[in-house]
Amino acid sequence: NQARAEDVRILSYRQGSDEQYQRELKIIRDLPLGLKSNQLYLVFQPKVTLASNQCAAAEALIRWQHPELGFIAPDEFIRLAENSGNINMVSQWVVNESIKQLAAWQQQGIILKLAINLSAHDLSNKALPSQIATQLNAQGLAYDALSIEVTEGAVMKDPDAVIAVLQDFRDIGISIAIDDFGTGHSSLAYLKLLPVDEVKIDRSFVKDMFINKQDAMIVETSIQLIHGLGMSVVAEGVEEQETVELLKAINCDIIQGYVFSKPLKNEDFSLWFHDFNQV
Ligand code: C2E
Ligand code: MG
Ligand code: MG
Ligand code: MG
Repeated sequence: NQARAEDVRILSYRQGSDEQYQRELKIIRDLPLGLKSNQLYLVFQPKVTLASNQCAAAEALIRWQHPELGFIAPDEFIRLAENSGNINMVSQWVVNESIKQLAAWQQQGIILKLAINLSAHDLSNKALPSQIATQLNAQGLAYDALSIEVTEGAVMKDPDAVIAVLQDFRDIGISIAIDDFGTGHSSLAYLKLLPVDEVKIDRSFVKDMFINKQDAMIVETSIQLIHGLGMSVVAEGVEEQETVELLKAINCDIIQGYVFSKPLKNEDFSLWFHDFNQV
């Protein structure tokens, strides 16, 4: 295997085994063809609004079934795409597929807001908000059909530039969520400055809150703070009905997690949506 010079630069700082190194090189090299040849696909996870007990939104999550390596988790290949400069290609594909899916759902009477995950590097592209707006327009979709999720870490890499791009998204009508809240290094002072509609509290705080009083206190206080800033709150990764009840009692707005549904392929999502919303 003859490694390209830039591949080596990306990977050589890592202390992994040779086997690991070869795997990562292969993932980086195979990604462009994988995107072109339908090895990658999106799955969709419902976000349930507690006040109405309705699904009004979903998150698109990427999957890769590799012909030789089998299933590759996004946590692995997204990081490699970011480090190798391929993330914009992935994100453009996700935008295209998401917009196609929204148009198909609209035909079926499934009206919802679809969230996509963007990386730090996407947010240095000042043209992205207007490009996405043009694509939505071409499909006859409202601008608020799509929303964006970004982690605190992505924002903190270059806060001023990222805030400007996020503001452009919002001016168009595309709403913004901060993902994995509580795990990054952003300060509360920054949250105040961010043009953000929604904050997603990371699963690490949510998963044990029913048995761990400190976690419950962190989540409750975060909800008060986020509401105080005029933003809505999503609890991520909720698996137990008891946690749903607890989150209702402390005024959480939206829940996403296996308790309602795992991420689903598009046909299964349609069935789930009709069944859950009784439409
Ligand atoms: P994320 O955006 O925070 O997505 C939530 C992750 O939690 C997803 O993992 C989802 O499947 C998982 N999850 C949801 N509910 C539960 C639950 O009740 N219990 C547990 N244990 N897990 C739950 P997934 O799909 O493996 O994605 C992992 C991460 O990869 C995402 O975290 C996101 O950071 C990244 N990612 C996924 N798709 C994309 C994409 O299209 N673009 C980019 N840039 N990143 C993506
Ligand atoms: Mg997300
Ligand atoms: Mg998250
Ligand atoms: Mg995450």
